[in-house]
Amino acid sequence: MDNCIFCKIVAGTIPSVRIHEDDDLIAFHDINPAAPVHLLIVPKEHVATLAECDERHAAMLGKMLLLAPKLAQQHGCGYAQADGDATGGFKTLVNTGPDGGQEVYHLHMHVIGGPRPWSGQR
Ligand code: 5GP
Ligand code: ZN
Repeated sequence: MDNCIFCKIVAGTIPSVRIHEDDDLIAFHDINPAAPVHLLIVPKEHVATLAECDERHAAMLGKMLLLAPKLAQQHGCGYAQADGDATGGFKTLVNTGPDGGQEVYHLHMHVIGGPRPWSGQR
C-alpha cells in the first residue's frame, strides 16, 4: 500500500527502532509510548484491520499473539509467577476502526508494560 506508514516501516523507507523480524512479522518501539515499554507487532502483509482478517490470516494472528510475551520478556515486562506471587505483565491491544481508536490502518498489536503508574491513556 503506497500511502501506508507501517508498510513504509516494513520496507525500511521510514526508520523505526526494530526489535524483531521474521518471515511474517516485524516489531518496533512505538514512537509515542504510553508506558515504559510500548512495542508494536506488525504483519509484513498489509491488512487494514482485525475485522478484515479471515481464516487465511489465522497463522499470522497466532504468531502475533505468541510473540507478545516473548518480546515483553526481552524488554523487562514479562509475566512471572513463583511461590504464588505474580509479578510483571503487560497489556496486548488491537484497536479496530474509529470507535476502537485505530489511527494507523495497517493491522498491529500493541504490547504495553513496565512499572505502573503509566502516563498514557491506553
Ligand atoms: P493505533 O491507534 O492505530 O492502534 O496505534 C497506532 C500507533 O502507532 C500509535 O501508538 C502511534 O504512536 C504509533 N505510530 C504512529 N506512527 C508511527 C511511526 O511513524 N513510528 C512508530 N514507531 N510508531 C508510530
Ligand atoms: Zn500497510
